[in-house]
Amino acid sequence: MMKNRSGNDTFSGYYGKNRTGGGGEMRFTASAPPGRHKRRRATKRFAVFAVMVAILAVGLLLFTRGCAQSEKTVHTGAARVCAQARPPAEAAENPPVEDGRFLVLVNWEHPSDGSRPDTLVPMDEVFENEVSFEGGSIDSMAGAAAREMFRAAQAEGAGPYKITTAYRSIEYQEQLWEQRLREDPDYGREPYSDPVRVLPGNTSEHTTGLALDILSPRHDEADDSFGETPEGLWLAENAWKYGFILRYPEGKEALTGVIYEPWHFRYVGKQAAKEIYQSGQCLEEYAGGNS
Ligand SMILES: [Zn+2]
Repeated sequence: MMKNRSGNDTFSGYYGKNRTGGGGEMRFTASAPPGRHKRRRATKRFAVFAVMVAILAVGLLLFTRGCAQSEKTVHTGAARVCAQARPPAEAAENPPVEDGRFLVLVNWEHPSDGSRPDTLVPMDEVFENEVSFEGGSIDSMAGAAAREMFRAAQAEGAGPYKITTAYRSIEYQEQLWEQRLREDPDYGREPYSDPVRVLPGNTSEHTTGLALDILSPRHDEADDSFGETPEGLWLAENAWKYGFILRYPEGKEALTGVIYEPWHFRYVGKQAAKEIYQSGQCLEEYAGGNS
């Protein structure tokens, strides 16, 4: 979550000026009597010092004004550097956007924008021993919520679980799609009447980092019957408490264009997950998107 703070770079011009102003050794070659000469030298030195102090004061004033527009300042040694913090007004407008990120609809009608999410974190930085997985990345918020969910499962004696996929790049997903098309050129032609389990690159929500395929070491085949295992049943019943929904429910294939997938869970945030679970809607209905 830490962003690079380049305040030092931004203000290097300012500090540079001061350094040159203070570093130059001034020489005075006035031809006055020794006593007056000394006094004049002292006066001139004082004048130079006073000018430097004035420059410094003006600079500091301008600099502090700049910082005042920013939310907070960071102290780096003797120099105060403006942090790249958002003004409070802008920060207050941001939470809805953040919430919206978790409700993003990626499906046949709403392809993803193609960018790699900047919220991805390696899974081995998220999980300890709550769940098994083989490498990969996940959205940081979805990861934290999944960790909470798997810890709760452990505490209730459910599991063990295994994450088989979280984030997939569009390129990789597209390879899977093209491989499927080579096997069957008509695959995915009428997804709402003949739903798929492999989606084209930019229509898979795995590219958002918010989706997880969860199986168990005891049942690591992604098929319908995972939904009947104790692990599948626990997830279907409890995932919403941690902000996840069973994204492709049985009976919603005509809306999702995807087969029933009891292993595919999607992070939407706790409030939305609760509402979706209680209403029995799928995300297409809840987010109002399948037009
Ligand atoms: Zn999946």
